[in-house]
Amino acid sequence: MALAFDEFGRPFIIIKEQEQKTRLRGLEAQKANISAGKAIARILKTSLGPKGMDKMLQSPDGDVTITNDGATILEQMDVDNQIAKLMVELSRSQDYEIGDGTTGVVVMAGALLEQAELLLERGIHPIRIAEGYEMASRIAFEHMEKIAQKFDYGVSNFEPLVQTCMTTLSSKIVNRCKRNLAEIAVKAVLAVADLERKDVNLDLIKVEGKVGGKLEDTELIYGILVDKDMSHPQMPKQIEDAKIAILTCPFEPPKPKTKHKVDIDTVEKFQNLRQQEHKYFDDMVQQCKDVGATLVICQWGFDDEANHLLMHRNLPAVRWVGGVELELIAIATGGRIVPRFQELTPEKLGKAGLVREKAFGTTKDRMLYIEHCANSRAVTIFIRGGNKMMIEETKRSIHDALCVARNLIRNNRIVYGGGSAEISCSIAVEAAADRYPGVEQYAIRAFADALDAVPMALAENSGLQPIETLSAVKSQQIKENNPYCGIDCNDVGTNDMREQNVFETLIGKQQQLLLATQVVKMILKIDDVISPSEY
Ligand code: ADP
Repeated sequence: MALAFDEFGRPFIIIKEQEQKTRLRGLEAQKANISAGKAIARILKTSLGPKGMDKMLQSPDGDVTITNDGATILEQMDVDNQIAKLMVELSRSQDYEIGDGTTGVVVMAGALLEQAELLLERGIHPIRIAEGYEMASRIAFEHMEKIAQKFDYGVSNFEPLVQTCMTTLSSKIVNRCKRNLAEIAVKAVLAVADLERKDVNLDLIKVEGKVGGKLEDTELIYGILVDKDMSHPQMPKQIEDAKIAILTCPFEPPKPKTKHKVDIDTVEKFQNLRQQEHKYFDDMVQQCKDVGATLVICQWGFDDEANHLLMHRNLPAVRWVGGVELELIAIATGGRIVPRFQELTPEKLGKAGLVREKAFGTTKDRMLYIEHCANSRAVTIFIRGGNKMMIEETKRSIHDALCVARNLIRNNRIVYGGGSAEISCSIAVEAAADRYPGVEQYAIRAFADALDAVPMALAENSGLQPIETLSAVKSQQIKENNPYCGIDCNDVGTNDMREQNVFETLIGKQQQLLLATQVVKMILKIDDVISPSEY
């Protein structure tokens, strides 16, 4: 910028047109990137494990979130740095694919970066580090398959699924009722699962929450819950064997467009118009009744007159039901969404054994339960809790548990948690390093050290001495040849995670390894950072 004066002596500023760029190259670029990545990992590290801390995040408009879920923390942190954004993306990918382990993956990537920094300082080329990491990650991946275990489950024998979900929930705020919630999550997933194809459509599970009650009151409803009530207080509160018309057309006469003009200058004309309008309503109600509907669920609203008429003609109705809910209701009740009254036929009606309205507490809050549906595959988890933040966190935790149960149905292999799988892989990778004669050997050893970061963080968060605990557990694994020894975070008295029933899914852990390695390799390969400079 430069200061200049015009012919009248008035000052003005000349700004250089071309924006200045800053540029970091070579080792400097790698180090800057690594430290950005490490900074993110450091934030999440304290949240890992059953004794991990929670974070409180305030959005610019004042909303407060309290959470322990890695993906959510990063999502809301609003980071600016591009490398930090990569770490956010990393956690998000884990969330997309697996749904759990979002903190662990970032901690692992942070540890890999930390080790890479040491190697760079020793003069090892970043590409050699990246290659070494790749080899090591393959070794660890295969080793995990070796230590994984398979278990059998069935619709009646779902205890192992519950145990695994409990491990996921044990690190969340809701761990007080983890048994309850884990059972709900497993039952929900089993209700919608296609066990033959080993597939679960999580869209069929709706998670609803309402402030009030206790967390223990959270329930699983074999049907749909809609946060709406009957459109008129005098309509029946309970309908058995309901035949439901699901409508996306409004319950009102067609509106005159602006280009039409209606002149009403006499009383007769007015009455005529009113009668016509009334007839419209009447026809609509009649059309619904003709096909045998005993309940109307409408995407749109209707005015008081229509409402009154519906009540009068004894046709209960629900208005302003959202599109997503409408679809779920249609799936659950085996009905069809009808866009025009003329298209209503008896076959298009949805069927439900019981539709009831339930009031909560002393408030005017009411919800509609649609149960015993024709196609009962859609279920709802209804969360209760003291405040909105609790409900939101419970929703996130349930999401994790649902994902874990789904992953287990897809692939019923598990590894043990508490850092035991990581320690076992670390030992295997360390042993394999000797077989590689090249410089990669150093990177492979560094990978083994990085794997120790997860158990160390677990120990540290539980108030244990990280290095001492880790070395004790590691030597125990080698001495007893037992890959299931981990960190006893809850001070149960045994290191054996089999006895503690701390499970994690094999695919979740493997995905963590792959994703973390991928991102770290990508960061290491960047040797030139060009960015607009800040004024
Ligand atoms: P993430 O978001 O990555 O799932 P969590 O905060 O849920 O992170 O922590 C998961 C880690 O905590 C896993 O490594 C798991 O093995 C460990 N863990 C969970 N429960 C226990 C437990 N009871 N004892 C020891 N470790 C546990």
